[in-house]
Amino acid sequence: MLSISILFPTWFAQQETPMQTKAYAAQSATTPLTPFKIDRRDPGVRDVGIEILFCGVCHSDLHTARGEWQGVLYPCVPGHEIIGRVTAVGRDVRRFKPGEIVGVGCMVDSCRTCPSCRQGLEQYCEGPHGFTGTYNGAARGGGQNTYGGYSAAITVDEHFVLHVRHGADQLAAAAPLLCAGITTWSPLRHWKVGRNSKVGIVGIGGLGHMGVKLAHGLGAHVVAFTTSESKRDAARELGANEVVVSKNANEMQQHTGSFDFILNTVAAPQNLDAYLTLLRRDGALTLVGAPPTPHESPQVFNLIFARRSLAGSLIGGIPETQEMLDFCADKGIVSSIETIAIQQIETAYERMLRSDVKYRFVIDMQSLARE
Ligand code: NAP
Ligand code: ZN
Ligand code: ZN
Repeated sequence: MLSISILFPTWFAQQETPMQTKAYAAQSATTPLTPFKIDRRDPGVRDVGIEILFCGVCHSDLHTARGEWQGVLYPCVPGHEIIGRVTAVGRDVRRFKPGEIVGVGCMVDSCRTCPSCRQGLEQYCEGPHGFTGTYNGAARGGGQNTYGGYSAAITVDEHFVLHVRHGADQLAAAAPLLCAGITTWSPLRHWKVGRNSKVGIVGIGGLGHMGVKLAHGLGAHVVAFTTSESKRDAARELGANEVVVSKNANEMQQHTGSFDFILNTVAAPQNLDAYLTLLRRDGALTLVGAPPTPHESPQVFNLIFARRSLAGSLIGGIPETQEMLDFCADKGIVSSIETIAIQQIETAYERMLRSDVKYRFVIDMQSLARE
């Protein structure tokens, strides 16, 4: 035993020594989240041990916990907008120190060798199982299931840990940057949104309100599309130059053929033609919202007559996540949030379903200590 551990020290150092950790889990698609104990591995040589301070509540958490998407494994501990404090680092960790504030987003592993991973686009990992999600990470067949940020602590390979430069009073509001922020930043950058762009953001929820703030921060002319009359003034405060209540056909028509780029964050099936017709020649409509049932197919003529594109985009890679966090720290950008205790999670889900949150719930993980 001794000689083998000398020959393979890294392997031995990475073997899991489970630490019991408090969490909240859904035990099935139809039962509410309740207290649950999970095992976290002791940090291996390249791992960072993190005490979780805050975790944002993404609509994907709800889709997953309630089994709205295919392949959910139970128990399910959601949460991929994590801000925490480093408690321990493995022997080979160079970039993080105990006490530092860090972030963890939607991914905790990937193959690291495929073309996408080598380009820092780990979310499109071409390895046999793709990337490993922070939760429900084994759903595509790789390894053990992963448990997310609705928990007291997490252990993550340093490659997937981010530096957070926001001040102590901004940490709760920085949490949603780890999913809502990067999911809107990545397509805004890929489609080269900048000072001369007219950009539409559809659905002013968790993702959408970050899309407005980030597109505004990049200097674009931003139009917010909302179904909620009550968000008309609020969306301007987020940085929208104009607000369109999308149920109003007249308001929609005034923007026909004028957008360079539209980002659609809506979590429900929609009429995509209503937005494709608003694009100028060569404009793109990019979908990040992931409804459980498909959109109706849009009209081909709406695409071919103006060479318009309909595209999709998945979260963002690790280098661009750090770029976004640094951009936000420099510009003082954070999410607009309502802080909750973990015990309020089911009420938060119900309110999110009614679009009744301005604009992201964030769990103060201190509340787990009560369990
Ligand atoms: P959210 O906070 O619930 O926001 C969605 C917004 O869409 C709502 O606030 C509402 O905005 C609008 N909306 C809701 N129902 C609608 C309907 N029936 N018709 C039109 N508009 C409607 O959700 P989120 O956390 O931002 O997530 C949005 C979607 O993105 C989810 O499907 C989530 O799973 C997905 N997502 C995808 C990625 C990715 O990588 N692609 C990453 C994270 C999340 P208004 O009140 O302004 O209309
Ligand atoms: Zn998310
Ligand atoms: Zn890969």
